[in-house]
Amino acid sequence: MAEWEERRFDDFVVRIDRTLCVGFGDCIEEGGGAFALDEEGLVVFLHPEHADREALVRACESCPVDALSYVEYKEAEDVSGTSSTG
Ligand code: SF4
Repeated sequence: MAEWEERRFDDFVVRIDRTLCVGFGDCIEEGGGAFALDEEGLVVFLHPEHADREALVRACESCPVDALSYVEYKEAEDVSGTSSTG
């Protein structure tokens, strides 16, 4: 299992960093089926495509050790210096 993994959605990306996960499972309660714990007791993606955006964001924000994070594409574009005009 990779130490980190990410999934892209319409306008944001959710990333798992398994090296930080301590397996308390807060994200599983908040994530609407998006996440599960594997046999090692560490977070993995389960059905993130079935969870709504708010649940994914809540799950990321509920993680006490920042093992889950999300980035909106707009922010990613801003930091890379690209912008749209018009
Ligand atoms: S909330 Fe964070 S530390 Fe807890 S299981 Fe989920 S990813 Fe791991």
